[in-house]
Amino acid sequence: MNRRTFLTAATATSVGLAFNGCNENNRKAIDYSKHPKNSGETKHVNINRNRKTVIKLATSWPAHFPIMGTGVENFAQRVKDISGGSLEIKLYPKNTLVPALAVFDAASSGQIDAFHSGPYYWKGKNSAFSLYSGIPFGFTAEEVNSWMLFGGGMELWREQYAKYNLHPFLGGNTNIQMGGWFRKPINSLSDMQGLKMRIPGLGGEVFAKMGVNPVLLPAGEIYTSLERGVIDATEWVGPALDIKMGFYKVAPYYYSGWHEPGSVLELTFNKHSWSKLAFEHQAMIEVASSEMNANMSCEFHAKNILALQELKKLNVTLAQFPKDVTDAGKKALGEVIDELSSKNEDFQRVYSSISKHLQLSKAWSDVSLGYFLNIR
Ligand code: CA
Repeated sequence: MNRRTFLTAATATSVGLAFNGCNENNRKAIDYSKHPKNSGETKHVNINRNRKTVIKLATSWPAHFPIMGTGVENFAQRVKDISGGSLEIKLYPKNTLVPALAVFDAASSGQIDAFHSGPYYWKGKNSAFSLYSGIPFGFTAEEVNSWMLFGGGMELWREQYAKYNLHPFLGGNTNIQMGGWFRKPINSLSDMQGLKMRIPGLGGEVFAKMGVNPVLLPAGEIYTSLERGVIDATEWVGPALDIKMGFYKVAPYYYSGWHEPGSVLELTFNKHSWSKLAFEHQAMIEVASSEMNANMSCEFHAKNILALQELKKLNVTLAQFPKDVTDAGKKALGEVIDELSSKNEDFQRVYSSISKHLQLSKAWSDVSLGYFLNIR
């Protein structure tokens, strides 16, 4: 298809609604010295519902998928509302235009204008990309937002995605994830040896070094694999999404986690599609994506706290990994980081930035939030 047809003028009708978001601002990370505003090339648009710009945005989630899918749908509606109908985000849920995990390439090539997904899915392109989602024992959602927006993370991310003709924004956060569902209790590190577990990403690499056999399975096959004993355990996200998968029926031991303490979701644009947008439309997307980033995180929290109570009524055993497992996880993480750093300069550079921010963040979080959560 012709890439020039993405941004099209058409007739639209919509109503404007007041905007009252109060969120972290993706915009803080923008280098205004490089912004079109200062180059004399800025395109401005008079908000006019009779002239509409359309953006094609594909997601890695099914339509109306709880929190992630509905969050993007809310984002699209907000953009339409605050633009007075002059900017429309046309959504293509998983597999309706491109396959779920082809959205990165589709936006990079210009087949679509934008996508909503998670950076760790693209570690095959560059292992450093997995770091933008977060690392085991790493940032919480609040900490990763602070690194991204005020600690240099966003600059690194945009620099590396630019090589793929892409321009990312924060697009939500799952908040801390649970360690997963196990058919049998884990009493020591020896119980992890040879365990077949569905766990992707850096977490999977860490678990592999601990003796686990990580398995990758499509979402639709996890439950039956767990039920039949093809796998012994699976991680997913947290109570709100896990309860819908029914894992508690076949693997009743539900462990607290450290492998995904605050996984970042992304809203990423084709650079050409982004630069073609009028300055006002760019600003609206920046505002609405900041709202999406904050709201998705809040919604995960709000739904997890209710789902946890439901799970407790279903004979789920809440558990924590024993100390030898956690110690082995920290040691394994160090090995994984060393190996990936030695193979990839980008990984080393991003990890170095994360590590610096994380050490400072831990020092503050331990004396403030850590103390408070323990005594509350
Ligand atoms: Ca997960």
